[in-house]
Amino acid sequence: MKNIKINYIAGFVLIVYPLIICFLGFLYWNKFGISTFEIICIIASFYTFCISVGVGIHRLWAHGSYKTNKFIEFVLAVVSAGTLQGPVLAWVSDHDKHHSYTDVLGKDPHTPLKYCLLEENKNEYSTKGKLKGFFWSHIGWMLDGGAPRKQIERSALKRLGKNKIIMWQFKNYWSIAIIVNTLVPFCIGYAIGGSLQYSLAGFIFIGIGRAIQQQATFCINSVVHFFGSKEYINSTAGDIPSLFFVFLGENWHNFHHAFPRDYRNGHKWYQLDVHKWIIALMEKLGLANDVVRTPRERIKAKVELTKQQFSINIKKQLNDIDTMLIKLIETLTKEMDKHLSQVSTNVSNKLIKFKQKALFLEKRMEYLINNSNSIKQEEIEKILIKLKRLELDSSKYIATHCEFRFKI
Ligand SMILES: [Zn+2]
Ligand SMILES: [Zn+2]
Repeated sequence: MKNIKINYIAGFVLIVYPLIICFLGFLYWNKFGISTFEIICIIASFYTFCISVGVGIHRLWAHGSYKTNKFIEFVLAVVSAGTLQGPVLAWVSDHDKHHSYTDVLGKDPHTPLKYCLLEENKNEYSTKGKLKGFFWSHIGWMLDGGAPRKQIERSALKRLGKNKIIMWQFKNYWSIAIIVNTLVPFCIGYAIGGSLQYSLAGFIFIGIGRAIQQQATFCINSVVHFFGSKEYINSTAGDIPSLFFVFLGENWHNFHHAFPRDYRNGHKWYQLDVHKWIIALMEKLGLANDVVRTPRERIKAKVELTKQQFSINIKKQLNDIDTMLIKLIETLTKEMDKHLSQVSTNVSNKLIKFKQKALFLEKRMEYLINNSNSIKQEEIEKILIKLKRLELDSSKYIATHCEFRFKI
């Protein structure tokens, strides 16, 4: 935690302001109570902002999955500024880095692996590291004022630098964002209810919907990069079907990392993906063109390749662990033989216990190696942690008890 610079603007926009809005919501609730109008404001605002990010910033501008007319681009640019996630150009620039260098430390701006490796032992995954990695990928990377991500990537500039709407949004980002978060919800509230109380409700509850939506976007970088199935590409990105109602399709993130330009994230017809349906509907209505679809054969080939890569990777990891385990058993056997006559029964009993634990792990390893096709990465991590702990405990014990008594 040394020399941490905080990006105060991001801190205000992403933490303080949402908390203020929620507090105002609480005061409003106490004074006026909550009716259907307030609930609808939250839900409508959440989904509208979700769509502006998913269909607009992400699939239209970050990946060029389709093209659309300038009017729709303008609407998406204005609404998405209201999500307070930065101008489209900056968002796309960070996202380009994320896709080009997924999980590469120092290059992927929000990889959850950043703190997943222990300082003292680069091979070990720790719970503390995972929690820190989760926080970093969720929001920490945006709060980090020292991160060198202020410049816009050349790739993003090349694609969007000539887009007048994007450049206009970039230059006027704060004015648009403030208007969308204040004046617009006030007016919507007044237009529906015709009173100042409705205006206030519009401002507060549309704001709460927006605050929840921010967290939904951040969860794509944290939750969806921690959990989920990995059928299409070997990466931290996962597919989590059950999160459809929150992410509207962005939850098919493993497929998305395998085929980022595809307009679908859930490519199978039955996979729920509101954003793909909106783009498909726009195409039918003549509002979207050049829609990118990955051919089925390419998807099949990629699934096969990923299966093979997973199995090679798993076998290699299992063999590495097995070699480490055999070395540990050898060391323990040698120590026991060497000190058996000099040390007390207590010490030799303890050494026997360490060896028994190692032999038990070895049996488990034998089983895993023979059934490597059905092994999950988490199981390997668990067994690796057990082995590291056993190695550490036994070497500490040998250093303090055996050496000391041997010298006597
Ligand atoms: Zn991702
Ligand atoms: Zn993407």
